[in-house]
Amino acid sequence: MQFIDLQAQYQAYKEEIDRRIAAVLDSSRYVLGPEVAELEEKLASYVGVRHAVAVANGTDALMLCLLALGVKPGDEIICPSFTFMATAEVVSFLGAKPVFADIDEATYNLNPESVEAAMTERTRGVIAVDLFGQCADYDALRALTDARGVFLLEDAAQSFGARYRGRRAGSFGRAAATSFFPAKPLGCYGDGGMVFTDDDALAEAVDSLHVHGKGDDKYDNVRIGINSRLDSIQAAVLLAKFERFDEEIERRQEVARRYDEGLRDVAVVPAVRDDCLSVYAQYCVRCPDRDRVREALADAEIPSAIYYPKPLHLQQAFAYLGGKEGDLPASERVARDILALPMHPFLEPLEQERVIDVVRAACVE
Ligand SMILES: *Cc1c(COP(=O)(O)O)cnc(C)c1O
Repeated sequence: MQFIDLQAQYQAYKEEIDRRIAAVLDSSRYVLGPEVAELEEKLASYVGVRHAVAVANGTDALMLCLLALGVKPGDEIICPSFTFMATAEVVSFLGAKPVFADIDEATYNLNPESVEAAMTERTRGVIAVDLFGQCADYDALRALTDARGVFLLEDAAQSFGARYRGRRAGSFGRAAATSFFPAKPLGCYGDGGMVFTDDDALAEAVDSLHVHGKGDDKYDNVRIGINSRLDSIQAAVLLAKFERFDEEIERRQEVARRYDEGLRDVAVVPAVRDDCLSVYAQYCVRCPDRDRVREALADAEIPSAIYYPKPLHLQQAFAYLGGKEGDLPASERVARDILALPMHPFLEPLEQERVIDVVRAACVE
């Protein structure tokens, strides 16, 4: 059994993926080819924003947003501690200071009260993460950032396709960053990412920054930038997969429903808010004796994973910020007992029954 079955997906869409890749090879336009522009247009319209800029990966997408927003050394940026390294790493990388806030223990997303408590006169912005495929509480977060006049940036690396109160992930805040890493809900066959925004000036800045600070063309340089492009072959793979993406989101709902029904009386299953649709980048449960459940799954040759075993405020890389055990109790509690189960659109009911049986047996043992 695969944790995320990319092979089954490739076999299902092989014809279209191969056709799209072959077209790039025939054209030899490997960088900034027409596939990239087509993808930007399609995904911007799907998300419901005016601009999309395809970049090399999700981490760059976040960093380019921060650069375009003018984040500089000394600025404080509030973000969750219970997330992937990239969310806070980019803040430190630019010399600004990540300020970690705690999560809501039901949704694993930023707790607006904790964000409010973390605000100071040096706060420049908030990065909200749509963890495991569910959008953060954008109404509450927007009210806070608007009141303070600071930016809100959406880390939608795990939530492409998700919905929050009628709008799609990638459309919240001044800008949003997503990732097309193969294991994400919409993944390519290497690294890839995208920035979404409705802000014309911000879109222009990101577009320039991702190609060496280009002006009218790449040999006219108006600012210091980087090289962070999505290549045409990756765009081709994404265009082929995007055709089937809504169908995949539907299948993810069915898989999640089966897990919910099979496990809700023995473990804490994901809490998706009313008016929200999760894309279940991960299906995570909390169980009192996680290690025993993990071992039982391993014995049955069922893969599982822990996202995330150590919150960022306790990571060595951020030790210079002085975080310590007890600072963010909800993040620390969740890190101790969360467990991710196999989740992908091609998970068969029979395979899933086996996972459920093993987890149930290990939970009630
Ligand atoms: C995957 C991920 C990123 C980074 O994306 P890459 O494409 O791997 O650089 C950023 N934030 C979160 C929450 C992620 O899960």
